[in-house]
Amino acid sequence: MTNQDCIFCKIISGDIPATLVAESEHAIAFNDINPQQAIHVLVVPREHHSNIAELAFANEAALVDLIRLGSKVADELSTGSFRFTFNTGVDAGQTVFHAHGHVTSKTPKA
Ligand code: 5GP
Ligand code: ZN
Repeated sequence: MTNQDCIFCKIISGDIPATLVAESEHAIAFNDINPQQAIHVLVVPREHHSNIAELAFANEAALVDLIRLGSKVADELSTGSFRFTFNTGVDAGQTVFHAHGHVTSKTPKA
């Protein structure tokens, strides 16, 4: 399930480069191109769904896998204080309409 015009589908297929941080069965994690904090990783399901709510209803296993991958990345990169956010809808600031979580933290592990 992909969307030809979707930038995150192109990153997942390897057509557009990204700095991969981690991957799992259902998701990949890569650095945000425009980081807002010292750590800013995007966690993205391999399947195309337009936002996290749609993913939650469409594929429960992929949702859990994505949350676990983001938590693992946060555990590896941060001291344990982090945000895991899902902008959902234009008014909430969503600009890429392929579900994704932002793992952000200002305290990288030494
Ligand atoms: P949203 O605003 O939809 O919650 O988040 C989209 C995020 O994707 C933004 O933080 C933006 O910087 C990031 N982004 C957009 N295009 C690219 C890209 O081509 N590569 C990477 N690594 N990040 C991107
Ligand atoms: Zn997509």
